[in-house]
Amino acid sequence: MRVVQKFGGSSVADAASIRRVARRIVDTQAAGAGVVVVVSAMGDTTDDLLDLAKQVSPNPPPRELDMLLTAGERMSAALLAMAINDLGAKARSFTGSQAGVITTSAHGDARIIDITPGRIESALNKGDIVIVAGFQGVSQDTKDVTTLGRGASDTTAVALASALGADLCEIYTDVDGVFTADPRIVPAARQIPEISTDEMLELAANGAKILHLRCVEYARRENVPVRVRSSFSDKPGTLVKVTTNEEGPSMEAALITGVAHDRSEAKITVAGVPDKIGEAARIFGVIAEADINIDMIVQNVSVADATTAISFTLPQDDVPKALAALEAAREEIGFADVTADETVGKVAIVGVGMRTNPGVTAKFFEALAKAGVNIQMISTSEIRLSVVVDADDVDKAVRATHTAFGLDSDTDAVVYGGTGR
Ligand code: ASP
Ligand code: MG
Repeated sequence: MRVVQKFGGSSVADAASIRRVARRIVDTQAAGAGVVVVVSAMGDTTDDLLDLAKQVSPNPPPRELDMLLTAGERMSAALLAMAINDLGAKARSFTGSQAGVITTSAHGDARIIDITPGRIESALNKGDIVIVAGFQGVSQDTKDVTTLGRGASDTTAVALASALGADLCEIYTDVDGVFTADPRIVPAARQIPEISTDEMLELAANGAKILHLRCVEYARRENVPVRVRSSFSDKPGTLVKVTTNEEGPSMEAALITGVAHDRSEAKITVAGVPDKIGEAARIFGVIAEADINIDMIVQNVSVADATTAISFTLPQDDVPKALAALEAAREEIGFADVTADETVGKVAIVGVGMRTNPGVTAKFFEALAKAGVNIQMISTSEIRLSVVVDADDVDKAVRATHTAFGLDSDTDAVVYGGTGR
């Protein structure tokens, strides 16, 4: 039996937490498992390091930023190894590079391309507990240290579980598992005992921060069972199950499985676009050229002057780049105006049950209307329905939707850490 256990920042926030987590790890080994641990930086360390970098330099070189940020995970890995050794077990910590996490060279957003876990295997064979610094690797080309993007320690854990043929990947966090909505916004949210990777993917892609999106993609592709649970309790948590599409919904009775929300996107509107063939292709060509991923798109019907308006959503961080690229192409494309609105949010309902139940859309929109929430944009997939609303309406919309679909529980959800790491 082999397990990979990942502990998020709130689970290793201070010395006492590190000792508490060490106890859990030692107990897992004592129960007969080979244990590989992936650890995040302590508490808010990554944010603090980013702040520090900004104070030193307004525009730090990405390579140096990665050197700095990877130190956060090295600290918690070394400290955790010390705490485990104190409990009489043997532990060794490794950086991502030492653990054989080979990545592309895109600093700040590197992708794992290979895992060569030779050193982990030999440490496991000696009976050691292996601690790996999460969210980092080494570039195959440049040999520089890289980071995998915010929240990516989850992805490190699943990638290692797959490479090591682990029986289970446990993601320890500060809530009891995956909930029907963020319990910080909806106290009546319910913990979901089992969820399909398809549903989990949609929730993660629509802003649920409980699991890193790429970790879920990896788990689905490589068939790694993932259990999300709290390091503050012994509750079994949520099993994220790789299912085929033929299998039924994970919660038979529920129409929808969960409500997700996201405040990280913005909306750009290109107005006065001549209503002729090829205009949309030109606009989105410019956006693609700028290497920007867009999410939703809405095109208004042509008005009397034969122009249309096209709105789309994109990550807030990409707004300046998108505006600059569009302004530069304004004459060539021939549109009148481009504006950005950062005060938007996205609310999505997800569930395999949606496929076979008509009326879900009507129910969702009715709930939003009753709550006084105006819908700006709509997008659908087979098992997901999402809307863009005013940022100030997000909480209200999430709560109203959760209630309308009968997801409210009688008891309040427990949030142990508070930061969601
Ligand atoms: N420490 C990194 C972050 O805060 C990675 C992680 O925790 O997964 O984003
Ligand atoms: Mg996380």
